[in-house]
Amino acid sequence: MKKTILAVLLGVSVCSSVPVSALDDPLSKYPGTIAVLRLLHEKGIQSSRTYLAFARQAHSEKKFNIESFFVALAASEIIRAETLAGMLKEMGIDVPEVKEEDVRVSTTKSNLKLITNIESADLDKRFSWMLDEIKKEGHAVAIAYISHIWKVKVQHRDLAKEILSSMESFFGIGAKAPDEFFICQRCGSTLGEIPDLTCPICQGPTSDYEKASAKWQFYSYVDNNGLLTDAEKAYARRVFDQIYSQVYEEQNVRFDGSILNSPLYQKWGLGYGRDFSLEEKVYLLQIEQTDRIWQEYGKVDLNRLEQADTDFVKEMHDKYGAGPVDLRSQKLKEEGTLSEDSQAILDIVETVSGRSVFEDKDLVFLRRWVAATTN
Ligand SMILES: [Zn+2]
Repeated sequence: MKKTILAVLLGVSVCSSVPVSALDDPLSKYPGTIAVLRLLHEKGIQSSRTYLAFARQAHSEKKFNIESFFVALAASEIIRAETLAGMLKEMGIDVPEVKEEDVRVSTTKSNLKLITNIESADLDKRFSWMLDEIKKEGHAVAIAYISHIWKVKVQHRDLAKEILSSMESFFGIGAKAPDEFFICQRCGSTLGEIPDLTCPICQGPTSDYEKASAKWQFYSYVDNNGLLTDAEKAYARRVFDQIYSQVYEEQNVRFDGSILNSPLYQKWGLGYGRDFSLEEKVYLLQIEQTDRIWQEYGKVDLNRLEQADTDFVKEMHDKYGAGPVDLRSQKLKEEGTLSEDSQAILDIVETVSGRSVFEDKDLVFLRRWVAATTN
């Protein structure tokens, strides 16, 4: 009875597109399990948002190692939320979008304290209760996964405590914490270095550990985007790296979400129903140019050059040798400094080609791009 009420309270509904016989109906078989999975999914998404907000705060305080820590916590939450959503979908259960709530952000020190307090108070009690509840229904995969989540939560709490106490010994100015963290892509285990043998929590292979950086979410969406070829994925990552190497102000980035409905977003986009970071918004605002550059670069065929292309390539070779040509260094040598326009065009050619020393194809593209955008 208790379990049914729990399921009703959490609004569990069965997806109508999946026909199930009454006997196999997951909702009657695993009502408590489903309720717990949905609750943990929702909490995971909410926590990931909170941690990303904490990461921004740490960044603004120039506590970059703690920023990495919060980014890692957010990445870990997202991995687990996605696995939970996958389990629910496999059972034919709807996974509703998690509404955005205001995130209260304080100083980094207080944010760390908040994690240790919340997670300390009733973490063990909550998880042991949830596990007792779902064990009665015997969904082995869910039982195992929720046990892993518990262990990861304990791991996060202990890490936060460690960082906090080191912060106290450094008068709150800095903290002894790794600059980067590694996350198990199965269970979300978060460590300062890749473990030796297997994941200490899920026992999976250590090859499942990936570095969590502020770019983690972008990379993961691009890598999982089936519409992009490998070359396009690599290009999209370079575009983002280029954006990330610059500093943007929130108030200057006017992102209204209208791009989300465009066919270009289908191809180069970053998934639906998610929160974009400032740099991701910049990427999305540039999506048309990103696509156009890629198309134009793809059109360069060295066997079918225009006279102007051939002349330009010859001019470059006469000046700088048989190639490939390190145009950036050559220009710097000649002019002492690079104009903003030269920087921008060199960045574009480097990003689209993936090379900093240009081959003939890159030179032809450069000529055509400059000709098309200056006329
Ligand atoms: Zn693991």
